[in-house]
Amino acid sequence: MGIFGWSYPAGAANDPYAPYNQQENPPEWTTAQNNARKLFRYFGAKNWGEIYRALYKGSDCGVSVGISLQDDGKPVYCNDLYKYELNAPVYQINISSIVEGVDIDTETQIVSLTEKGTQKTGDIIKRLFSAVEKVEEEAKYIWDQTHGCDECDIEGEWGDNAVNPNCKACKGEGEIR
Ligand SMILES: [Zn+2]
Repeated sequence: MGIFGWSYPAGAANDPYAPYNQQENPPEWTTAQNNARKLFRYFGAKNWGEIYRALYKGSDCGVSVGISLQDDGKPVYCNDLYKYELNAPVYQINISSIVEGVDIDTETQIVSLTEKGTQKTGDIIKRLFSAVEKVEEEAKYIWDQTHGCDECDIEGEWGDNAVNPNCKACKGEGEIR
């Protein structure tokens, strides 16, 4: 099977003159490979699992990381990522987080590998960290809306006790449920 799922006739995969082997990869695929290479180099990673681990450990809320693969329906998440190395046909990274105690997911932030970085969006490393930052901000918001202590006395967006920054009992830190 080729990267995008087309199959070769028997023997053709090893024949450099076969038309199948002269076809160049689509440009967005070359971009995806270059972006993946950049990420692996940046994190010193041998597989996508190590990138997940680094992002998880580096974030306050412990982000979940998924990769979407060409020709493969559902994204693969977290610990399953250790099976996928640089040659995996990944075209997208999905970042999200579940807030402890309430099971409210943040929105999933999508980082496309097939897009070249622009001055506005920044390169793949910058886009990845900005996605992580957005998820962290949302996770903190969800936490604050749902983890007030008994004395906080503010109703949050979903009807729970929200953290009151001026609460004397928990000093604005809320409590872990
Ligand atoms: Zn409180």
